[in-house]
Amino acid sequence: MIVTNLNPDTDIGASSWLVELDGCRILLDAGMHPKREGREGLPMFGKAANGEVDAIAISHCHHDHVGALPVACRHFPRAHVLMTELSYFLVERVLHNSVNVMTRQRDELGIREYPLYSHDEVDDIAPVFQGFKYNREIEWAAFHKSRQAMSSPTLEFFDAGHTLGSAGILLRGKKETLFYTGDVCFHDQTILRSARFEAVKADTLIMETTRGNRETPAGFSREAEMERLVAAIHAAQRRKGCILIPAFALGRTQEILATLALLMREEKLKRQPVYIGGLGRVFTEIYDLEAHRTNRRHTDLQLHETLQLIVLEKGQAESMKLSGGKIFVITAGMMSENTAAHDLAARMIGDEKQSIFFVGYADPDSPAGRLKAAKRGETFVFSPGAGRLTRNCDMEMFDLTAHANREELLEFVGRLSPRAVLLGHGDDASRGWFESQIRERWPAMKILQPQPGLTLTGV
Ligand SMILES: [Zn+2]
Ligand SMILES: [Zn+2]
Repeated sequence: MIVTNLNPDTDIGASSWLVELDGCRILLDAGMHPKREGREGLPMFGKAANGEVDAIAISHCHHDHVGALPVACRHFPRAHVLMTELSYFLVERVLHNSVNVMTRQRDELGIREYPLYSHDEVDDIAPVFQGFKYNREIEWAAFHKSRQAMSSPTLEFFDAGHTLGSAGILLRGKKETLFYTGDVCFHDQTILRSARFEAVKADTLIMETTRGNRETPAGFSREAEMERLVAAIHAAQRRKGCILIPAFALGRTQEILATLALLMREEKLKRQPVYIGGLGRVFTEIYDLEAHRTNRRHTDLQLHETLQLIVLEKGQAESMKLSGGKIFVITAGMMSENTAAHDLAARMIGDEKQSIFFVGYADPDSPAGRLKAAKRGETFVFSPGAGRLTRNCDMEMFDLTAHANREELLEFVGRLSPRAVLLGHGDDASRGWFESQIRERWPAMKILQPQPGLTLTGV
């Protein structure tokens, strides 16, 4: 087996791995780097240019795993694109949204190579997308006539519990097997149940390491975090201020909405409209529509029926009255400029009645990251547009991650007991923690941290 890491960076970056198995080639994910600009954010597809790729398999529809798919299809025009059927319902929306975001950034930031692909291109490649149920074996190299005579390696999607449609991908060749975790969650969230990786067997493992740099505090539980969130919402409403929860449109938004819906159903929170972003609304509808084929909790909970969801238009964020305990669950986890989350936050930061709750990671160089670091009473530069602001608002962090804790991932390594582990999707410290832990516990296991663009043969 030959494996190439196409991520252009050594951090979480743009996920993309090229795997060669029994003479057939497959790309696992085609993500876009969330922090790099323009073509710098693409995977190193050039490193895979020495041959055709038979298939591209997508683990899930987050930007860092799927955002470069149209560019990958341009490089590998023969490749069929395989994903779970739930991802199939999401992927085109995600890609069209990327075109919109890139077009806006071209105009606002002057990044002239944006957009890296067009709406037409997304429409053109859509016919090669194929959605599959979890736990079906798919002969991914058999789609091409020239290959039909030979036996094809297979792949199988395993539910990763991270976001709707997310999957770990198991590749089986004649003699070798490889499992790619994608992004995985080993605990139940409010909607999605934990990953179902019990039946996975593989000699080689490519594993995400997002939370390797994060110690789980003693006594931590998701339930306790939820209770703390509810108490914080109540306190904010007693002050008659508003509550802003910035959250990514796919996954986190629906988990927060489900929490609010359950609280309202149990009368622990007063019934009131919840303001969300346009893309968040689209994905929320898909979560509702596909509830019956999702491995989830509260299958009867329809977010759209239970909650009064109002899409917040950009202009509204500048003028709306910020009182009465309004709740905003708004896309743009990083609060980039020219988003509703940015404009709302800019108005709320100086006001002690208002509350901003973070429920996930924010890049320290983004407006959200700078706000997160600001102590109460501290003046800081929020963004070039908003300038210097003094933080008087209430601000709290809640750990509602959709990624496995590092101990859970380590447990998975022990159970799978692969011959070799490739560490990816994490910064140096995260990968380093896993390397030292694995080395200590299972000294015979081969541990690899392939650098950007590096090819490993005989993995
Ligand atoms: Zn993800
Ligand atoms: Zn990811």
